Amino acid sequence: MFEFPGDPTTPGIASLPSLPDSQRISPDQSAQMPRIPSTPLSYVDAWPILEHLGGPDSPRSWQGSLPFTYHVGPGPVRVHMRLRQDYQFRTIWDVIGQVRGTDSPDEWVIAGNHRDAWVYGAVDPGSGTAAMLESVHGIGELLKSGWKPKRTIIFASWDAEEEGLIGSTEWAEQHDPELASAIAYFNTDVAVSGPKFGASAVPSLKPFLRDITKAVPAAGGGTVYDAWRRAGPPESETEQEVHDPVPGAAHPAPLASWDVMVGDLGSGSDYTPFLQHLGVPSTDIGSPDSYGVYHSVFDDFAWFKKFADPDFLYEQQMARVFGLETIRMADADVLPFDYEEYGKEIEAYIDRAKKRADIEFGARAPSFVEAAQAARRFEEAGAKILSREQRPPNDPGKLNRALREAERALLIPEGLPHRSWYRHAIYAPGENTGYAAVVIPGVNEAIDGHDLGRTEQQLATLMAALERAARVLGNDH
Ligand SMILES: [Zn+2]
Repeated sequence: MFEFPGDPTTPGIASLPSLPDSQRISPDQSAQMPRIPSTPLSYVDAWPILEHLGGPDSPRSWQGSLPFTYHVGPGPVRVHMRLRQDYQFRTIWDVIGQVRGTDSPDEWVIAGNHRDAWVYGAVDPGSGTAAMLESVHGIGELLKSGWKPKRTIIFASWDAEEEGLIGSTEWAEQHDPELASAIAYFNTDVAVSGPKFGASAVPSLKPFLRDITKAVPAAGGGTVYDAWRRAGPPESETEQEVHDPVPGAAHPAPLASWDVMVGDLGSGSDYTPFLQHLGVPSTDIGSPDSYGVYHSVFDDFAWFKKFADPDFLYEQQMARVFGLETIRMADADVLPFDYEEYGKEIEAYIDRAKKRADIEFGARAPSFVEAAQAARRFEEAGAKILSREQRPPNDPGKLNRALREAERALLIPEGLPHRSWYRHAIYAPGENTGYAAVVIPGVNEAIDGHDLGRTEQQLATLMAALERAARVLGNDH
């Protein structure tokens, strides 16, 4: 996934039944097929293996709850593992529903959630699917009352997410040309595992997301926003993965102006192809905290009913937030994107990366001045266009086009080093961080790689992307 998600035999192109075999990489040639056999074990089975591993002590964060010190090996214990696996091409099914827009049918607002699960998947992804279907239901009622969206709304129920975002990635690759004019992608996945609300988004959509939650009543009184704010920051920004602290992992310090914590988009769910490959502004909403039964056989309806949401109140809340995101974006006269906030966040990312580069390279550290100036120009262009958003012109077409295109301008044409499928200059899942986001990944990963030359080159690439995006924003009238 950190090189590219989707069908490992069709990087960058859609894996359609009609695709000739000659255009596929055969599975034994694909660099993406796992080389190390692996299988989950229960703790009872893992116990004697772990207990008999020698070698150095494991890193502290690898120590689990078994009553002995964990070692990393190798040996002296030897394990024979017989895995029975079959390799076959299998058909997967994305289910797509569409409401055609009246004014701008080519501008798609996409809302998606996966449907496949590791086992029963009551929370992951069933709680998301229930919320999505309920928003579809609500939009159906609106349609009956005569309402029609200005832009086209697409609901997507993705297949094969757990095997590597396959359904969403292949669909996005298939619709690459049409997605060039897409407005936004809204994701949900682990929608409800308890009362807490959490969200990640591109910075331009963080204010939009806060506004939506201010319009939805919360199960316990007040609004979802109030409850979100009261609950404080989530335990982790990512989908329940336990990460080792990566030296120098580039997490941004929350800006002082943040009233609720909206996280950064790394990976681990279906927004990845839309944002990080195609530059479609995205959000992801759900439950932010670990819930114990993630990806296990115990994530079933009985658990959900007993522990997650006994009265299905948080499900209703999620359906409203998800549906309202879709409706508001589809009907907005002026697109609600805040590129001033985006610029400020990028400036903070650059500032942090500079400090890391100073530590890594000392006196030889490259200059971050130009990149910081470009981020500042992007922020200023964002502030200027924001003031125009408040006083929309008679024909908002050009303004909306600029707002729509700015995110795509942040794509790097040649992609990130070692992994050209990932093209976003500001966000990627880290090469070594699992699902967690690395911000300005080209620069930060060059610093992590102790590579001065690449750091300089990636700074120039970042600067060019910011310049492009600032120019697009300046082109609004
Ligand atoms: Zn999931």
